[in-house]
Amino acid sequence: MPTLGNPQHTIEIIQKHKFTFQKKFGQNFLIDTHVLDKIIQAAGVTKEDMVLEIGPGIGTMTQYLAEAAGRVVAVEIDGSLIPILQETLAGYDNITLIHDDILKVDIRALAHRYNGGRPIKVVANLPYYITTPIIMGLFESHVPVDNITVMVQKEVADRMQEGPGSKDYGALSLAVQYYAQPYIVANVPPNCFIPRPRVGSAVIRLTRHPAPPVQVQNPGLMFTLIRASFNQRRKTLQNGLTNSPEVPYSREQIAAAIEQMHLPPAVRGETLTLEQFAQLANVLPEIPGIPPLHACIQ
Ligand code: SAM
Repeated sequence: MPTLGNPQHTIEIIQKHKFTFQKKFGQNFLIDTHVLDKIIQAAGVTKEDMVLEIGPGIGTMTQYLAEAAGRVVAVEIDGSLIPILQETLAGYDNITLIHDDILKVDIRALAHRYNGGRPIKVVANLPYYITTPIIMGLFESHVPVDNITVMVQKEVADRMQEGPGSKDYGALSLAVQYYAQPYIVANVPPNCFIPRPRVGSAVIRLTRHPAPPVQVQNPGLMFTLIRASFNQRRKTLQNGLTNSPEVPYSREQIAAAIEQMHLPPAVRGETLTLEQFAQLANVLPEIPGIPPLHACIQ
C-alpha cells in the first residue's frame, strides 16, 4: 500500500534527505490522499496499462500508480530526487525510473519498449512552467496515448475546456480540443500541496479522439489562422488575419472566404468554433509552404 500521500510522511522524507525545493522545476508535492485517489480513478488506470508519470517528485503519486497499473515509467529531471525515489519506490517491481528532462525524452520509444506500441496513459502533477509544451508535444509527436490526466493551473484547465463565448476560449482551447475531449475532474486548492502554490489548480482529463473531430486539409494552416485570430482577439477576423505576418493571404482573399462561409464581415475570430476554423482553412486557396502540422501554442 502507498506509504506517502499525507503531510507528515512527506515532511519526514524531505527532512531525512535534506531535500530543498527548487522553484525552477515547479516543485509542489501533493499531500492529499483524496486527490490522489481521484486522479487514479479519473485516469481509469488498470493492470493492463502502462502509465507515464512526468515528474514523480518524492514518489507519492508513483506509489498509487504502481498499485493500479501494469507498469509505471516515471521521468524526473531533478537528480537530488533520484535517491529519494529509489528509497520510496523500493517495494515495487513494476516501476521504471528515468532521470531526464521529459521534453528531451523519446516518449514514442518508451511506449514501444514498455507497452509494445499500444496506447499509454499519462498521469502527472505537472510542473506548471512547461504544461503546454508537454501536452502539445504528446499530441503532436504522435505518441500513442489513450488519455492524459494531469494537475494543471486552474486557469489553464479552464482555457483547455472552454468554447466560444468565454473569455478563456483561445488558441489553447482549440489546439487541445482538436486532439482530445477535455473534462475537468476536480478543482484542487493550494493547501493540498507542499509548498503551497500561489494559484488554484485543477485535475483535467484529456481523452484522445480516435480521429480529429473536424475535416481539415491542412491543419497547419488552420492553426496559423487560429493563432492570428487570437493574437488580436479584439479585432475583427478580417483585420486580425490581414494584419498577421504569418497569414499569407490578401485582404480580398480573406474577405471572400468569410463571405463564402456566410459570416458577417465584422465577425470576430473569438466567436468561431473549431469546425468554422477548419472550414475557413478549407475555403482559402491552397498555398505551399505552410507546415502540415504544429499548433505551436505556448
Ligand atoms: N508528482 C509529484 C507530486 O505530485 O507530489 C511532484 C509534482 S511537482 C508539481 C513537479 C515535478 O516535476 C517535480 O518533481 C519536478 O522536479 C519535476 N519536473 C520539473 N520539470 C521537469 C522536466 N522537464 N522533466 C521531468 N520532470 C520535471
